[in-house]
Amino acid sequence: MSRIVYVNGEYLPETEAKVSIFDRGFLFADGVYEVTSVLGGKLIDFDGHARRLERSLGELDMTPPIGRDALLEVHRQLVARNGLEEGMIYLQITRGAPADRDFAFPSEEVPGTVVLFPQAKTLTGPEIAAKGWRIVTVDDLRWGRRDIKTVQLLYPSMGKMAAKAAGADDAWMVEDGHVTEGTSNNAYIVKDGKIVTRHLGTEILHGITRAAVLRFAAEAQMKVEERAFTVEEAQAADEAFVTSASSFVMPVVEIDGVVLGDGTPGPIAMRLREIYIDESRKVAL
Ligand code: PMP
Repeated sequence: MSRIVYVNGEYLPETEAKVSIFDRGFLFADGVYEVTSVLGGKLIDFDGHARRLERSLGELDMTPPIGRDALLEVHRQLVARNGLEEGMIYLQITRGAPADRDFAFPSEEVPGTVVLFPQAKTLTGPEIAAKGWRIVTVDDLRWGRRDIKTVQLLYPSMGKMAAKAAGADDAWMVEDGHVTEGTSNNAYIVKDGKIVTRHLGTEILHGITRAAVLRFAAEAQMKVEERAFTVEEAQAADEAFVTSASSFVMPVVEIDGVVLGDGTPGPIAMRLREIYIDESRKVAL
């Protein structure tokens, strides 16, 4: 079934949607993105994603081509026009399509390109997190501004392929002996009841799900420490998990062949998954 997508002010069937070959997103990966999940036809954490988008654009000196309220309306229209009950809305904004390919940024008059499309996906249900993920580690060879959510996703994509080749579900990236984050999620371990996750900085994306989960963990009187941890520490942990807009809280059961605990999803990860999904549904837009 053909989707209805949004491109620069227009709602179109996906087969009719077009972006210029001169678009800087295509030529330079000069663009940013957000992924907002949809549960029961409503948007999860929309305001967090809108705020981070604004920050990503600002860090790259891009003028926001669309404001928060208009963006919310486009998200809602795409949910409605596609009858989306569960899945994600993908949003990408690039620095637009100047007349020629040039490393220098174009003038302010070149409008940014705005593309949004829905993706249906089952995100909840007992089977989704029943087994947990097996993780492999890879060197973190990405650029130094991972706090900006750019569309430069080749290296994370290669990490995902390395995981697949090893029969695992995802890869955690490692820099100076410490885990930065997963290919498309934030990474956590749990030891003696304490949750450990890397502190915010330019080395990782400031996950919107991370922020919510840490808030819920604090509200549930769970102990949280924000600091870097090593692969060895992770392998000796009682449990581990990742968070992202599309996986919510996903337990991790194995790291580089080392099984955590009894090899099944840990209780803290599962509790946080339940809390996150329940609480997010209540305030979904
Ligand atoms: N880190 C990276 C590298 C990611 O790509 C993502 C998801 N886009 C995350 C963390 C999780 O962020 P969020 O919870 O906002 O989806």
